[in-house]
Amino acid sequence: MIVMKFGGSSVANAERICYVTEIVRSLLNQKPVLVLSAMGDTTDHLLDAADEALKGHVSVEKIENLHKQTIQDLQLDSQVLAEVDALLAELKSLLVGISLIKELTNRTKDYLVSFGERLSIRIAAAYFRAAGIQAKALDAWDAGFQSDAQYGQAEVLPEAWNRIAGTLIPLVESGVLPVVTGFIAKDAQGNITTLGRGGSDLSATIIGAACKAQEVQVWKDVDGILTADPRLVASARPVEAVTYEEAAELAYFGAQVLHPRSMQPCIATGTTVRVKNSYNPSATGTKIVGKLEGNAGPVRAITSKKNVTLVDIVSSRMLGQYGFLAGVFSAFSSHKISVDMVATSEVSISLTLDAAHDLAALKRDLEKIASVTIKEKKAIITIIGDVRRSSEILERSFGVCASLGVQVQMVSQGASKVNISFIVDDAEAPRVVQGLHRAFFEA
Ligand code: ASP
Ligand code: MG
Repeated sequence: MIVMKFGGSSVANAERICYVTEIVRSLLNQKPVLVLSAMGDTTDHLLDAADEALKGHVSVEKIENLHKQTIQDLQLDSQVLAEVDALLAELKSLLVGISLIKELTNRTKDYLVSFGERLSIRIAAAYFRAAGIQAKALDAWDAGFQSDAQYGQAEVLPEAWNRIAGTLIPLVESGVLPVVTGFIAKDAQGNITTLGRGGSDLSATIIGAACKAQEVQVWKDVDGILTADPRLVASARPVEAVTYEEAAELAYFGAQVLHPRSMQPCIATGTTVRVKNSYNPSATGTKIVGKLEGNAGPVRAITSKKNVTLVDIVSSRMLGQYGFLAGVFSAFSSHKISVDMVATSEVSISLTLDAAHDLAALKRDLEKIASVTIKEKKAIITIIGDVRRSSEILERSFGVCASLGVQVQMVSQGASKVNISFIVDDAEAPRVVQGLHRAFFEA
């Protein structure tokens, strides 16, 4: 058995659904379970509709048009049209409710966005059947997905795994293609929950781990995880394999690959995750595994994050004074500003933040215990790879920076086993990434 997950853009319209059908058909002998997201930007459109409802204006036009047009384009039967109509009517009532009480709790929001996935699986499954594939649409809760009640960020309960396997494995064994909603679940009270934006990846890896699938395939529109952002590095290429930790770290650094939490279930079972390209199905994609085989080389990928603010804080008290770090971090905490990278010495500390914050009040507080310098327009360069080979990575990286005449302004290594990060000026970041890519991947 394998799990195949297709995101919103892969099922955005009739044409894309036809295309997915052929990919699925070609892998039917591997007994797939399908996990789908909402069509296109439907989740965003649902949230927009809720905002409008709060202002007293109820409309499901955009959502209705997309799904009905797709049913028409795919020439589906009246049964699926009736199911879709029923869901749209329920959605409309919910929006009327929101517009009347002028309130949108997290619980209601989860109920609201669940319509996207519930609509998409019914349409896709109906088309698969019309195309001769024995498919069955399943809402996540009918496939065993029970979660806690943290609306917007729910966790699937460990007990659910057995129920998921107990539902899906017999279906697959009897030759049925289960088509399951990603992203959603139900809590013990029967309320609908969501696993967080982009959570369909997590639904897929939970199914893969629970059913001990051979592989979880996450189908995207790129050839897997790339060595660098192709907009910066024309010769960026797919990475053959990365570890779960490396993939999770890449996700945090904004390489829009997989939901960061989605690696967790497969780490527990050692299930392979593979990122595949739906526009290029024969490409092998990137394999995500527990341990890399053979000589994988020290570096997997290079990422950069622009528009970062660097704060240098030097203690105005004497050397050896305790409580300085606590004072610094409590100032950040009381201003609710989250810190990314940190480097410390005996009397000073440097840290980075997203540029979005207003730092004037924080600066005034910090200046009670330290002198503070704020430097804007910096970039974090992150090298994802095998930190056990850090000396080699640092030597080559700093060699690249030196040859480009770029000064490294802060370095952080050690907290994670898979990344080394350093700060340069924003304007220098593209050259540095290109230089590092040449040194590590094109030599
Ligand atoms: N449809 C949901 C979202 O847009 C879940 C997903 O796509 O993974 O966040
Ligand atoms: Mg989506």
